[in-house]
Amino acid sequence: MTGLMQHAAKFVDLTEGRGTRVNVADTPILLVRQGDKVHAFSADCPHAGAPLEEGAVCNGRIVCPWHKGTFAIADGSVVEPPPLAGLKRYPVTVENGNVLVSPQEQAQASPPPLPTPDTRTMAVIGAGAAGAAACATLRGAGFNGRLLLIGREHGMPYDRTALSKFVLAGDMPREKIPPLLPDDFLSTQRIQRVEAEVMKLDAVEKRIGLQNELTLNYDAALICTGGIVKPMDVRGSNLRRVFTLRSRDDAATILESLDGLRKALIVGASFIGLEVASSLRKRGMDVTIVAPGKVPLGSQFGSELGRMFQRLHEKNGVVFRMESKVKAFLGDGVVREAELESGERLPAEVVIVGTGVRPATDFLKGVLLADDGGIPVDSSMQAAPGLYAAGDIAQFPLPRSDTTLRIEHWRVAQQHARVAALNMAGGNEHYTGVPYFWTYHFGKRFEYLGHASEHDEVVIDGDLDTQAFIAHLMKDGLVAAAVACDREAPTARLAEAMRSTLTLAQARSAAG
Ligand SMILES: Cc1cc2nc3c(=O)[nH]c(=O)nc-3n(C[C@H](O)[C@H](O)[C@H](O)COP(=O)(O)OP(=O)(O)OC[C@H]3O[C@@H](n4cnc5c(N)ncnc54)[C@H](O)[C@@H]3O)c2cc1C
Repeated sequence: MTGLMQHAAKFVDLTEGRGTRVNVADTPILLVRQGDKVHAFSADCPHAGAPLEEGAVCNGRIVCPWHKGTFAIADGSVVEPPPLAGLKRYPVTVENGNVLVSPQEQAQASPPPLPTPDTRTMAVIGAGAAGAAACATLRGAGFNGRLLLIGREHGMPYDRTALSKFVLAGDMPREKIPPLLPDDFLSTQRIQRVEAEVMKLDAVEKRIGLQNELTLNYDAALICTGGIVKPMDVRGSNLRRVFTLRSRDDAATILESLDGLRKALIVGASFIGLEVASSLRKRGMDVTIVAPGKVPLGSQFGSELGRMFQRLHEKNGVVFRMESKVKAFLGDGVVREAELESGERLPAEVVIVGTGVRPATDFLKGVLLADDGGIPVDSSMQAAPGLYAAGDIAQFPLPRSDTTLRIEHWRVAQQHARVAALNMAGGNEHYTGVPYFWTYHFGKRFEYLGHASEHDEVVIDGDLDTQAFIAHLMKDGLVAAAVACDREAPTARLAEAMRSTLTLAQARSAAG
């Protein structure tokens, strides 16, 4: 083994608090110093390839700069998603102040085998963000019984967040959308993929009814069926080329219709509406956004940040009709115009409606749903005996607050799923994570950490106009959430620090 060891760095050149990237025999390796020890891992995040040396190292964790996934320094294993696989480890030693590393990967420790094969059946319903995370976690935790992944979309779970950012922009062909799990994951991990719609889940009988009238019994189930887009209830919303966007198939249908079209109208100035605007501008289309609020995202972030998003979009040619509502779509089978409540008519050769989703839970029997259709869970993500819920549908207790709510964020869905799956496998985990969301507009990536249902002040460090800032959303003297752009390493540190409640001074000091 020592024969393969090669000089990688001087120990004194390694700083605690961040990793250092080196190349050993053309293998990119992240060196992480912890006291007088050094660890060596693969240097890029297995989720989306972020360079991990640009993130942070704190609380015994390596934090990814892009989507804030975390890995344990001790062994590179996943602590929090979006990564669903751990980092590769490399043998490393320190001799006479020199750090020596072998580029030959160290074998991963496998979970201890269970004493007897597990005879239970676990069902994961919904093959999206949370479903993929749950399957990876259940097998990673050593559950070796029957595992079903049921979902109505075709094929492997994929990265839905790319649809509005890259697929509609023409930057990522539909068939290149990254799958969430390796291609052979289902077969190597003995996961039975059932491509079908669940019509009924009886939580008392622990029975699932599928669209083809098949029934399946389970011992424990996780429901993670995400959102169903809310269609618009106005005249003409059934005209051709009035679309919503949730799935890969929706994106394909929209793309197929765009040839030769110039004028797009987007209803809703939420993240998805704005991302679609950014993508369609990139294709050279004229884009108008119609939305009821004073500024985009004003109810989430307040007017100052909302105006910043609006200015960025306007600088790139997007036209806004804020404080406006669509009264009808007009056309002869195909949409041609939108009529606003003010009477104004706007040309619209294609319309994308981004007015939100509702929880996909109509099939659930035996559990009392929340008013909005969400599934109430406790901090272990349990809804009823043997039944868990995760992701967009879960109404969960927000850590460090007295609020229960649903949050429609990719990483939160996967955090939930990880907690639920560990509990299904016999653990005693609770959701204590920091919510995290990212969004992408005209080449700028914005991050949102924490959750502020309401805030009383926004304190901005940096410059909104050049999109280089951290904005603290304050509530009762504490940082409830932060919005940031071009501050990836500071927000990696902040994401870790926000596991405790923070004053503004503490948040600033943590971000560094
Ligand atoms: C275009 C777009 C862009 C987004 N961008 C971002 C972003 O940048 N950052 C971010 O944090 N979040 C983003 N989101 C939100 C994020 O995708 C969701 O919060 C996340 O996917 C929720 O995960 P989930 O597992 O709960 O549901 P999903 O990922 O939606 O998966 C649910 C699955 O269950 C299936 N299903 C539903 N009902 C049934 C049934 N009865 N039977 C069988 N299967 C069923 C669905 O078809 C779906 O495949 C975006 C969403 C969209 C649509």
